[in-house]
Amino acid sequence: MYCRNCGNKLPEGARFCGACGAEQKQSMVNADEKQPETVYQGMTGKTVEKQDVISSDSEIKSVKCPKCGGKRLQIMTETDTHVKTSGGGYSATKGCFGWLIFGPFGLLCGNCGSKQKTSVDTTNKTYWVCSDCGNKFRNLDDWKKEIEEKEKLANNTMIYCVLAFIAAFICFAIRFSFLAWIMLILGIVYVILIPVGKNQLNQEKEEYKKLEYESTEK
Ligand SMILES: [Zn+2]
Ligand SMILES: [Zn+2]
Repeated sequence: MYCRNCGNKLPEGARFCGACGAEQKQSMVNADEKQPETVYQGMTGKTVEKQDVISSDSEIKSVKCPKCGGKRLQIMTETDTHVKTSGGGYSATKGCFGWLIFGPFGLLCGNCGSKQKTSVDTTNKTYWVCSDCGNKFRNLDDWKKEIEEKEKLANNTMIYCVLAFIAAFICFAIRFSFLAWIMLILGIVYVILIPVGKNQLNQEKEEYKKLEYESTEK
């Protein structure tokens, strides 16, 4: 069957459309016919016939709606687009190098050669939409990847933090005190940011575990 509102292909008997969210009114013919239930697995969107008895040794995890337990789910991808403008304005790095080479007046180098750059950043988030109650929830495979990426970023921040302190130490030792102070401040900023980021990451992991518990059946 197809959505009455937008024409998106829907599993038989779906009450809500995964693309536009429109409620589907069932025709009498459809309601009387007994349709085989389908289960969607992972991100592949592959449909398999639902088995009456699921053997206990099977490793297949099927996804169900955490709200109503319904198994007729549709996959849906949302794309977030961020437009970032970087460059333009004062560059601290160039200013620092300018200071090293030309002394205090070298700070003006920070204004040299800065061009505005605009980059478009897109992130895809995959959701399941329940055909029975319209509930929308994150796809676990997709969410897991996102959390892993954030974890990598957090580890990188830790490395940058250590590097900033080492750089500050070296700069103090060779009496580049201006650069040393900048590195020290950078290191301190990282020290403040790391626990905040870790805290957020842990919260997200807990939400993930909760959804995993509520939406998967072994
Ligand atoms: Zn629709
Ligand atoms: Zn549901």
